[in-house]
Amino acid sequence: MSESEKYDVIIGLEIHIQTNTKSKMFCSCPTGYFQKEPNTHVCPVCLGLPGALPVPNKRAIELCILMGLATNCDIDKEIYFDRKHYFYPDLPKGYQISQYKRAICTDGYIDLKNGNRVEIERIHQEEDVAKSTHHSENNKEYSLIDYNKSGVPLIEIVTKPCIKSAQEAKEFATKIRQISRYLNISFADMEKGQMRCEPNISVQEKGKWEYKDGKILPIGDYKLNSKVEVKNIGSITAVEKAIEYEVKRLVDDIENGKEIIQQTRGWNAEKGVTEFQRSKETADDYRYMPEPDILVIDVTEEDIERISSEIVELPDEKTERYISSWGISEYSAEVISSTKENATYFENLQKVLSPKLGEKDAAIEASNWLMGTLYSISNEKGITVSEMDIDITELALLILSFKEGIFTKNKAEELLRECIENGKDITAEIENLKQAKNDTSGDIDNIVEECIVQNPKAVEDYKSGKDASIGFLVGKIMQATKGTANPNEVRNILIEKLKR
Ligand SMILES: [Zn+2]
Repeated sequence: MSESEKYDVIIGLEIHIQTNTKSKMFCSCPTGYFQKEPNTHVCPVCLGLPGALPVPNKRAIELCILMGLATNCDIDKEIYFDRKHYFYPDLPKGYQISQYKRAICTDGYIDLKNGNRVEIERIHQEEDVAKSTHHSENNKEYSLIDYNKSGVPLIEIVTKPCIKSAQEAKEFATKIRQISRYLNISFADMEKGQMRCEPNISVQEKGKWEYKDGKILPIGDYKLNSKVEVKNIGSITAVEKAIEYEVKRLVDDIENGKEIIQQTRGWNAEKGVTEFQRSKETADDYRYMPEPDILVIDVTEEDIERISSEIVELPDEKTERYISSWGISEYSAEVISSTKENATYFENLQKVLSPKLGEKDAAIEASNWLMGTLYSISNEKGITVSEMDIDITELALLILSFKEGIFTKNKAEELLRECIENGKDITAEIENLKQAKNDTSGDIDNIVEECIVQNPKAVEDYKSGKDASIGFLVGKIMQATKGTANPNEVRNILIEKLKR
C-alpha cells in the first residue's frame, strides 16, 4: 500500500497580511518603512514606552472587515482587543495588541477549483512587531532592532484544518493574495514580508479520524499525530514546497515508529528543507488578557454598507463571466483575471473592439492578443502589460487592421514589438503599411511571377513533389510585399501559376 493511500494530509493555514494604511495601527507614525533609515518611524506608542496610549486606526479596521466581507465571514458588531504576551526584543511592550476570544470576522470560506471549500475560522486585527537583524564583527555577535515596522497594521487569517493538500494550500493563499490586491487591502508582496503564510500540518491514518465542527477528532482509540507548524515562508510556491517536504518527513517518521512532537519549524528555502525551531507554545503561554487601554468599538450597519461598497468584481466572478458571456477558454479567463491590472486592460480592449467585431469576437480577439504577443513581450522584458505603455485605441486599430486583411498577424505582431521597443507611432506605421498595400495590391501577380523566375530551385523542388517548398516561396513574396499581402491568397495564386 502506498503512503498516499494509507495517510490523509490535514493542513490549516495562518496568513498574516500587512494592510495598506498611511499610519500605524495604534499611533500616527507612517507605515511605509521599506528602505527607510532605521528607527525613524517611531513614537512612544510603537516603542512601547510607559504611559503611551494606543488609539486604533479606523482605516485598518475597515480593511480587516473588507477582507472578511470578501471571504464570506460574519462581522462582529463589537470589536475587542486583547494583549498577547511574549518576550522578544522586537516586541517592546512585552505584549502584542491582538484579538483573542472575539475576532472581527468569523466563519467565512473560499471555494477552490476542485469544489472543496476552505473554511475560515477567523480574521482578526493585530499589530506587527519590529525587525531584528543579527550581526557579527571582530568575533563579537550583536543584534540590531529597527522599530519602523513595530505597530504596522496586520490582519491574521486563520483557516480550519480542512485543507487536504499542498496544492489546495497554494490555491487558497493565491486567492487571498488576489483579493488583497483587487480590493487594495494590501500589496501582499511576500518578498517584502507584506504577506506571510504559516501552514500547520499533520498526517493521520485514513479512516481513523473525522472532521467535526472545525476540529480533527480521533475515531475509537486512535491516537492523533501531533501537528507541525512551518514559518518563514517567503513565496506562495514555497508554501507548496514546504508542505510537500513536511508531509514526506512526517510520513517517514511515522513509518519508522518515531513519535511526532508538536513543534514549530522554519523553511530553509536554499536547502529546500524544514528545520526544527522550537516546541510549540500553547495559548496559556501567551497569558492573554483584555487590553484595558482600548474601549469597545461599535460596528454599525452603515459601516458595513459603506465598507461593502468597496468590493469590486473578484477574479473568480470575472473568470466565470468571461467564460459564460464571451466564450473565453477557462485557462485564458483565469490567467487574465489573476491580476486586476490585466483584467482591466483586457476589458478596456474588448470594449474598444466591440463596435467593429461584436462583443464576443472582440473578447476572443482581445484575449488572444493578451495571452499571446502581449504576455510574451511582458515576460521577455519583465514588465507588466500596462507598463508597456501601449495606447488601447492604437492597439485596437492595429488589431482591426489585421482583421481587415491589411497585413498578416505576424506583421502586426512585429509592428507592435517595434512600437514598444523603439517607441514608433503605431497609427503612422499602419498608414504606411496601408499605403504599401495599395501600391502593391495590383502587382501581386507580377510579384509572384518575379518570385517564380528568381527561385528556380524551389520551383523545381515543388514540381518534383516537395510541397514544403511552397512555404519558402510564399515567404519570399510576403517579404516583397512588406507583409501586406494575404498569405493564403498568395499561396493560391502561386499554386495556380505553378500548375501551368
Ligand atoms: Zn508610533
